[in-house]
Order: sequence, then C-alpha cells, then structure tokens
Amino acid sequence: MSDRHQFHRRLRDAGMRVTAPRVAVLEILDDHPHSTADFVATGVREHLGGVSTQTVYDVLRACTNRGLLRRIEPAGSPVRYETRTGDNHHHLICRRCGEIVDIDCAAGQAPCALPDDDHGYRIDEAELTYWGECPRCLEIPAMQRQ
Ligand SMILES: [Zn+2]
Ligand SMILES: [Zn+2]
Ligand SMILES: [Zn+2]
Repeated sequence: MSDRHQFHRRLRDAGMRVTAPRVAVLEILDDHPHSTADFVATGVREHLGGVSTQTVYDVLRACTNRGLLRRIEPAGSPVRYETRTGDNHHHLICRRCGEIVDIDCAAGQAPCALPDDDHGYRIDEAELTYWGECPRCLEIPAMQRQ
C-alpha cells in the first residue's frame, strides 16, 4: 500500500475535498492500473465497508473530470481507469487474456501521430492501441485455446 498522504495531496491539488472513498479509489487504481469500475467498487468495499457502487462511479467520474484519473475504453472491453495521467502513454493489449501494458509515448504529447491530410481539423489526439498476444498466451498451444 502506498503512502496515503500522497492521495490527500493529489485530491487537494486538483481542488477536491479529501473523502475516504476518493482516497480508496486512488489507492486501488495506483496498485491495480487499468481496473474496471466493478473491480474498484469491490476493492473500496473491502477497505471501507458499505460504500455503494453508485458512490464509486461518482468518484471515478469526478476524478476523471479533474484529471486525476484517465479513462480508457479498449474495443470489446469495459471501461478501465488508471492514475497515470497527462503523459499520453499508449496501451498494449493481449487479445487472448486481456492483459494491458503501458507503452511510453515516444513524443510524450498528443497528438503523437498526424495524418497526411488533416482536412482542416485542429487535431488534438491520436488514439493509439497496440494489440497482440502476450508471452504467456503464446506459450499455450493453439489446440488448447478456446
Ligand atoms: Zn495474454
Ligand atoms: Zn495505462
Ligand atoms: Zn505516442
């Protein structure tokens, strides 16, 4: 478990009041990046007892709006959250087991890839996701795969 005070500071720096559910959500996502809201809600209840799923969803939304959390929505997967924000990093996702790995952005700033023709748009983001099979899944013989 990480030092609780850093979460208090992050909340205050973002102009948010420090509450137990907010601290718990940040703590869980720091330890388990790219978690779903359901996973976070289960973890918060383990820490704090009776916190409603709605409360956890509200915390996730508020922290995302304030830039404390980043929300990603890989194709075919539920929405996931992480505390690593503001660095425009990308994700590498295993098609078989769903594992998600952070990939540093070479440019560090969005948009890190520009099209040949921007059609007059001011482009602010290129959403880049790498898909493949992780080393563990590659070791499973094809005939044992479902
Ligand atoms: Zn895998
Ligand atoms: Zn990430
Ligand atoms: Zn990039």
